[in-house]
Formats: sequence, C-alpha cells, structure tokens
Amino acid sequence: MIYEVVIGVEVHAQLRTKSKLFCGCGTVFGLTANSQTCPLCLGLPGTLPVLNQAAVEMAVRAGLALNCTIAANNLFARKNYFYPDLPKGYQISQYEAPICEHGWIEIVASEGKRRVRIRRAHLEEDAGKNVHVAGTNGSRVDLNRAGTPLLEIVTEPDLRSADEVVAYLKGLRDILIYQDVCDGDMEKGNFRCEPNLSLRPLGQKGFGTKVEMKNINSFKFVKDAIEYEIKRQTKVLSEGGKINQETRLWNLDRGETVVMRSKEEAHDYRYFPDPDLVPLKLNKEWIEGLKKALPESPSALRVRIMEEVGVSGYQATVLTSEKWMVEYFEATVVEAEKAGMMKVDIGRDIANWITGDLQGLLNKTSGSSGQTYVVDPSSDAQQARSMISLLMKQVPPGNLASLLVKKFRGEVSGPIVKSVLEEMLATGCTAAEIIEAKGLRQVSDEGALDKIIDEVLAKNPTQVAQFKEGKQQVLGFLVGQVMKASGGKANPGKVNELLKKKLGA
Ligand code: ADP
Ligand code: ZN
Ligand code: MG
Repeated sequence: MIYEVVIGVEVHAQLRTKSKLFCGCGTVFGLTANSQTCPLCLGLPGTLPVLNQAAVEMAVRAGLALNCTIAANNLFARKNYFYPDLPKGYQISQYEAPICEHGWIEIVASEGKRRVRIRRAHLEEDAGKNVHVAGTNGSRVDLNRAGTPLLEIVTEPDLRSADEVVAYLKGLRDILIYQDVCDGDMEKGNFRCEPNLSLRPLGQKGFGTKVEMKNINSFKFVKDAIEYEIKRQTKVLSEGGKINQETRLWNLDRGETVVMRSKEEAHDYRYFPDPDLVPLKLNKEWIEGLKKALPESPSALRVRIMEEVGVSGYQATVLTSEKWMVEYFEATVVEAEKAGMMKVDIGRDIANWITGDLQGLLNKTSGSSGQTYVVDPSSDAQQARSMISLLMKQVPPGNLASLLVKKFRGEVSGPIVKSVLEEMLATGCTAAEIIEAKGLRQVSDEGALDKIIDEVLAKNPTQVAQFKEGKQQVLGFLVGQVMKASGGKANPGKVNELLKKKLGA
C-alpha cells in the first residue's frame, strides 16, 4: 500500500509590540521572573482588559501580507482550562470570528511552485511559564510572558512532505519579518510551529486520523520530526493497526515523537465570548490604508532586484532569505551609485561578494563552526545577530561599495579584494586605508610588469619552449606565475597582453 502524507500547520507568531495584548506591561525576553507583570496579567480579580491597538494593526498587516480577508467585526472569546501558568483560568483568544481568514502563500519546494491555503489567523494572548529548577522541590511560575500578543496562523491540510512544510515555514517567517510584525526567533519561542500529520492510501478522498506535534524549535527538528512521524504511521498502518488521534512531543535526545496526550484527555475548552471586551469593529478605510502602506514582500523584492539590478535568480533567493542581507545589499548598491556606478554594472558583483566570500569571512571572524546561518537562521539566532552587528560596524555598506568600485575600475585586482575585505572586517578600516597601508594597489605599469615577466620567463624555459611549439594552455600557467610573483597585485589583463607580446604570439 502506498500512502499519501497530509499535513496542516499551526504557527504561533509573537507580535513585536512593546506592551502586552491587554495591559501596559512590557514584552522583553529574559527578564527576572515576574518583574514584567501587573494585577491584570497576574489574573487578579477586579481587573479589566484594554485591547492594544498596535497588536490589532500588526495582525491586520500580517493578514494582508498573507492574502487574507480581514474581518471588520471581531470577537474575543474565553478558552477555559486550568494550568498554573494561566492564573485567570482562561486564555483570551478568538474562536468563531478570527481577525484574518482565507489567505494563501506561495511556496517553492522540490515539487515546484504551490499555493498553501491559510484557513485563519487569530489574535490571542500567550500564557506564562512553569519553571522547574533542578535540585529544588516543586516548580515555580514566571508570568512575564503571560498576556504577550500572539497571532495563531493555521493552514488547510495542503502540505505533502517535510520539505514543503519547511518551505512554508521559511516563507511565512520571511513575510512576518519583512512586515516587521514578528522577530521570527525560534530559539526564543517567538515563532512556534505545530504540524498536524496523517496518512491516507493514495487516491483515497477522505483524510486519515491526524497526530499533532509540539516542542519543535528549529527548521531541522521540523524535518526530523515529520520524517520520523511518517515512518511511524506508515509502520502502524501497514501492520493493520490504527492511528490514535493524539498530541505527540518531539524528543530531541531520542530522535522520536512521544505521546503527550490522547484525544480522550483532550480539553473541552467551553469557549464563550469574553464579556469584558466589547466586539471589535474595524474601519474599512483604516484597513485599506494599511494595505496601501504594506512594505514590499520578499517575493516582490526578489523579482525587483533581478529586474533592476540584474542579479541572478539564485542570488536573489539567497539575498532575500534574510531581511538584513537584502537591506545590506541594497544599501551597498546605493552607495556604489553615489560613487558614479550604474547598478547593472556592479550589482551582480556586490551580490556575489555578499552571498559568497563575505559569508565565509564572517563565519571565520566570529569563530563559528562554519555552518552558515543562512541555512537555518532559527537554530543559530544568537550567532546570526552577533555576526550582523559585527558586519555593520566593521564594513558598513559605503565601505564595501568603495572596495568593489575600486575593483571595477581596476585599482585592485580580484585576488586582492578578498584579503582587503578580510582586513576591513578585522580592523574596521576603509578599503583605501588598507590598500594604501599595505601597498596593494594594482600594478598596471608596463615597466614594473616587464621586469617581473622577464624573471618568470627566465625561470620557466620548458614552458616557454612548449608555448612556442603551439601549446596554448601554457599561457595560463605563465600568467599565474606572474600574478604570484607580484603578490596578486599585477593587472591580469595587462599581464596577458605583455606576455603574448614577449612570446611573439
Ligand atoms: P484541532 O481542532 O485539533 O486543532 P483543526 O481541524 O482545527 O484541528 O486543524 C488543525 C490543523 O490540522 C490545521 O492546520 C489543519 O489543516 C490540520 N488538519 C486537520 N485535519 C487534518 C488531517 N486529517 N491530516 C493532517 N492535517 C490535518
Ligand atoms: Zn500586565
Ligand atoms: Mg490544534
């Protein structure tokens, strides 16, 4: 029997507001336990919630960027359950009337371009955190996070493989980051995902029983957990067994999913409209205004830099995979234009250096293991942040632009650029300062080159003879020797020309 994989994903994205959803407390990560609380988010009796307008605005902006319909009439509901990190005994969420519905995003996975439908995206408040300190008796509760605004984004069961889920999550995370509504930092828990997965015999219409997975905090674990779960369910079904509808936790140490709770233990949340909050009515013109002011989406930006700057599809994809990177790229292009360059002349070169050697140098300078964070920003967020601030401080866009403009104008040779860049990153000096101090200016002067070439020809009589017998390839070797003898400073075009002249070619 061949089974088809069916996956739908729920994402909790923390909106990056300054204050919580229903009180004025801050939303800073990692503060002393309970220092960011007030009577409202502690759930004390007699307090009343006041809705944070910035959170509503961010939810609408996210919904618009996800091609959703925005509901003009919104209701907040109480989702009732008991847990120590939820002092009120209910979570304020949205149930029947979510703020955003019926959207979609486009993903590109191994199976090609596809639309993933978004069923809904609703506003809700986060819970606190239970803290278990090793060696102490009992647990403690930290309510700093209680009441932080979340947008829960739910897809239709449209995804068919682990790769598609990762492509969807990366795409979604990019969109939210570009819209400035979420930091997308999976390590800090502000982009949490829960895939739901079932199998069905290929060709069957109805869906099979699904399992929900939690506790997955990097793209790599998403892939591992889904692949594990596909194998597990395939085995159960092939042996004639049945899948239990349950929630399973990804256990990193064991590399498997483990039952957390079954459907029998599932909660009945007894949802009802929250009587403390009036229905929220959104003004149509206000929504339209937000729509007009939406920042460019990653996919639109990708197309624009390909068309305007002439970068390749691959470069555009790598550059837009991180908002900071494409911003750094665009700022560098602007600086190069200020120096009198045309975008189309230098854009590809700038893109090449940013997506290529600069990445390697950054990894080296920051002492990382060499795995670039572009592959999985989620698992290395801390490292990514420190690299970005290092780059901005040491090599601001204007400095990178002036180095590459010098290369374009033939003032420094290609092989020298990398060492100058490395020096810039280490010292924060400008390209001009380093080239001057180290005497790295490209040598195009015929007199100086003549001398080096004569020496090289004298040292390599065999190759000279071979060339004269018609072995053209030897020229490349000789050019290489001259470049080496000049410490990489010789102008390769000039060397080529002079060598040919001397060899009578
Ligand atoms: P719940 O009420 O358990 O959260 P929902 O029906 O609201 O379940 O769906 C939650 C997520 O699970 C959605 O993303 C949805 O697309 C997905 N989903 C629903 N049914 C299935 C299924 N049979 N197989 C895989 N995913 C599913
Ligand atoms: Zn508070
Ligand atoms: Mg669910």
